[in-house]
Parts: sequence; C-alpha cells; structure tokens
Amino acid sequence: MLRAHKIELKVNNKQATYFAKASGVARKAYNWALVEWQKQYEAGGNPSEAALRRQLNSIKRKEFPWMLEVSKNAPQMAIMQLGQAFKHFFAKRARYPTFRKKWRDDRFTLTNDQFAVNDYRIRIPHLGWVRMRESLRFIGKILSATISRRANKWFVSIALEVQKPISTVNDNQVAVGIDLGLNHLATLSTGEKIKGPKPHKALMNRLKRLSRHLSCKQKGSNNRKKAAIKLARLHYRISNIRRDAQHQLTTRLATHFNIIGIEGLHVKGMLKNRKLSRSISDMGFHEIKRQLEYKTLVCNAKLVVADRWFASSKICSCCKNKIDKLPLSIRDWTCLFCFTQHDRDINAARNLEQLAVSSTVSACGVSSDGANALALASHVTLKQEFNTKVIYG
Ligand SMILES: [Zn+2]
Repeated sequence: MLRAHKIELKVNNKQATYFAKASGVARKAYNWALVEWQKQYEAGGNPSEAALRRQLNSIKRKEFPWMLEVSKNAPQMAIMQLGQAFKHFFAKRARYPTFRKKWRDDRFTLTNDQFAVNDYRIRIPHLGWVRMRESLRFIGKILSATISRRANKWFVSIALEVQKPISTVNDNQVAVGIDLGLNHLATLSTGEKIKGPKPHKALMNRLKRLSRHLSCKQKGSNNRKKAAIKLARLHYRISNIRRDAQHQLTTRLATHFNIIGIEGLHVKGMLKNRKLSRSISDMGFHEIKRQLEYKTLVCNAKLVVADRWFASSKICSCCKNKIDKLPLSIRDWTCLFCFTQHDRDINAARNLEQLAVSSTVSACGVSSDGANALALASHVTLKQEFNTKVIYG
C-alpha cells in the first residue's frame, strides 16, 4: 500500500527562496498547460499531458529561461498532475481543473531519482541537504516527494510503497456505529459521546483580533503580509489541535472494533451550517472518514460506509420503522410505533452499527439483503481506490 509522511523542514533563507521559486515554476507550468489544454481542445485537438510536457520543453529555454534555475521536475510533474486532474474530471471524480494560485498552491513535486533521504535530512537538486524536523516514519520504496508551503512553513511529504503491516489487533468481533456530529466529535453506538477538543477560547479571541488586524492593513503592504502570516500560523495551530483529536479517535476505533459503520454523507453539516463553521465541520467529517479508511485497512477492521440515502437518524433502531420528519433541533424522541425513547445521536449510531454488521454478514454469504448491498458496494470501490491512492498518515 501507499503511505506518505509529511515532515516540516528547517529552512534557511536561501532554501526558502529556492522552494518559493520552484513552486512558482510549477505553478506557471501548470497554469500554462491548462491554458494550452483549453486552446487545443477548442481547436478540435486532443490534448495530452505528455505532449504538453514536450511542448513546454521545446519552448522553455526561449520563453521561460528562469524555469531552468530549479529542478526540471518542478514544471514536468506539475503538468503530469494537471493530466491527473483531467483524468479525475473525466471520470467524474473531481471538478474541472482550476488555476493554481500563489500562497494557496505553493508546491512542487520531485521524482525519486531527484532526491535522497538520509535520517533527518533530504537532498534537493541545485540546493543540497535540507534539514527535516523528523526522520521518515515508514520503511519502503520511496516514490516521490512534494514540497509545499503552509502558514509560511515548508513541508515535505514523502510518498512510499510500504508492506501492509501484520495486524496486531485483537480479533474479538465487536461492531460499532459512529454518528459524527456538530456538538460532539462523535457518538458511538455503545452510547459513548466523545467531545471534540474544546474551542480554545484564548486562541479564538486571538483569531478574531488577528483577522481584524489584517483587514485594516493596506493591501499589498508589508505589514499586511506579516499579519497574514501571523493569522495563517494561528489557523495552523488550531487545525493541529483538531487533527490531533481526530487521530486519537480514529486510532482508538480502528484498534478496538472489528466492524465500523459510518455515514456516507455529512448531512448535518450541510443542513445546519453556513460559511466557515460549515466548511470546518465538513472538513472534519471527510478527515475522520479518510483516517478510518486507511487505519481500518492497516488494522484489518472492516469499514462500512452507509449509502448517502440511508436515513440513520429517522429509523428507529429497535423496530426499524422510519419516521417522516426529525428536525435537527430535536435531540430526544419517542418512536411512534414501539414507544422506545431515543437519544437522536445514539439511535443513529446504532442504525449504522446494524447496517455495518448486516452488510458484513451478507458479504460472507450468510444472508443477503438488497438494501445493504449499496452500502457494501461503496465500501468495495473505496477499498479498490486505496491501491492507487496515496494515504497520508
Ligand atoms: Zn420503534
């Protein structure tokens, strides 16, 4: 399987300048190729990333001589990535590729013949050794390295092909359903409610203050740039706290449970939230799902993702009757058919657990249930995707 380890780099000014330049070259190549692609397509041609790479190679000496100052991988890999983006678009997995933007998309990729990793350092062409804050966590064949900027810090993400570790998990057959929430990080079908990290009040206040600072600075000024970096660093710190809680949760789930059921779509986030809070809860949902996908694979647990139409909240987990409406404001309800009293989230988690168990059973041929086939199918495609996707630890 493919894994990636992202490590912060300790850079000096010269190295930071080189990374910014290489990212600029990658961005330019990517955006140039995107324009060319559109042009050729509109002219009735059949553009391809390989042809575009050759085309750029033939003109770069004359038109973009500054591209030669960094690793030739930077423009080449960027165009290959554009090819990937189009591939995902044609397969309806992603939207039409958009232009890369400075600061937002500062990154470039090196193939494994272009760099070397040695303990706490990585060797970059034209630059020499750059120090890393950690040594590489995984052992395996190194495939590529992507160097990127976030909050004005530089990181390297090294992708490797690793052997699937032998599972050390206990093999008791315990199933769990997880309802991912807005108020709680997660509710388990065991009845446990896991609180997310408390929003650090001091950090949040600082966030507000820094946002205000930024908005009153003159556009394009140095002070504005400094304020933007300060704000980005704070965002990064807060997201680390959140990420840490998510990892603790998903590790615990993947190592303690054998069968795990989760929702396929974060309906709550879509209904309740707007703007910022919505995007945060959305991100949290996808991140937890992503972590569970690879951790269950490593731990030999089964992850069952419910079909997006599965009404986990509205079905009574006791009698299986479905009610028509259950507004988000209602936290506790009583089933009209069997009069069981439900906690909204725990009931949803129980339904997800039952779905996961019955999907797994039907997969073993013990029983087959049409309603669950969908959920199972989505899990199977998901597992297949793993083989081609790099999984970030
Ligand atoms: Zn009922």
